[in-house]
Amino acid sequence: MTAPPLVSVRELTRTYRVGDVDVRALRGVSLDVFPGEFIALTGPSGSGKSTFMHLVGCLDRPTGGTYFLKGRDVRGLDTRELARIRNREIGFVFQGFNLLQRTSAVEQVELPMLYGPAVSAQERRRRARAALDAVGLGDRLDHRPNQLSGGQQQRVAIARALVNSPSLLLADEPTGNLDTRTSIEVMGIFQALNARGLTIVLVTHEHDIAEYATRIVAFRDGRVKSDRPVAARRCAADDLARYDAESAEAEVA
Ligand code: ADP
Repeated sequence: MTAPPLVSVRELTRTYRVGDVDVRALRGVSLDVFPGEFIALTGPSGSGKSTFMHLVGCLDRPTGGTYFLKGRDVRGLDTRELARIRNREIGFVFQGFNLLQRTSAVEQVELPMLYGPAVSAQERRRRARAALDAVGLGDRLDHRPNQLSGGQQQRVAIARALVNSPSLLLADEPTGNLDTRTSIEVMGIFQALNARGLTIVLVTHEHDIAEYATRIVAFRDGRVKSDRPVAARRCAADDLARYDAESAEAEVA
C-alpha cells in the first residue's frame, strides 16, 4: 500500500489583487507529493511556481481550493498555528541564501530552534553542529557569510533548513546564484538527503538541475502543464567526478 501523501492540493487557486486588477497566479493546481519524493518544479517565469511554494510552505493562504499537509487541513489554521506548523514541518532554502551577515554559521543554524519547543543552549549547539557536519561544514562553525564561498553559504542555509528535522524541504532556485561545479555539489547534498528519506520540492529553470529529481512537474499559466517521472535520473556524485576529470584534462591540454 502506498503511504498517504505528505502534501495534497486540489484545485488550488491564488489571485492577487493589484489596484483594480486581479492577477490569477494559480488557476487550479491539483497535486500530491508523497513521502520520499524529490520533485523539480519547472516552468517559465510568471507561471506560478513561487506562489505555489509559498502556499505549500504555509507562508501564504490560497484564494480557493484545498491543501492538506500530513492529512491536516491547512485552510482553517490561524496565523499562529500556520507559523507553528511551518517551523515544525517545513524547511526553506532560497536562491539568495538569506543568511544574516554578521552571524556565524553555527548561530545561523541555531536560529530556527529559538522559535520551536524549548531546547537548551547546549542542545541547540549540538544539533547545529550535527546539521553543519551533515552538509560537510563541520570545520566552518565560526565563519560568517562573507568568509564563505557561495556554495558554502548555501550549505549553511540547507543546514538551517534541516535542523528542526522537517518533513518537507522547499527550495526555490537554490542553484540560481551558483557556478556549475557548486550547483552539482549542492544537488549532491539534496540527493543524499533524499536518499535518507527527506521529501524535497525544488524550483528550477534549468533542465539539467531538474533531472537530479525523481519527478518533474511543469507549470504554465498557473496550471500544471505536465507531470512525469524522470526516466534517466542524473547522479550528482558521478557528474561531479566527470566534471573534475574533464576540467583536469582541459588544464593539461
Ligand atoms: P514564478 O515563480 O513562476 O516566476 P510567480 O508565482 O512569482 O511565478 O508569479 C505568478 C504571477 O503572479 C505573475 O504574473 C506575477 O507577476 C504575479 N505575482 C506574484 N506575486 C505577486 C504579488 N505579491 N502581488 C501581485 N502579483 C504577484
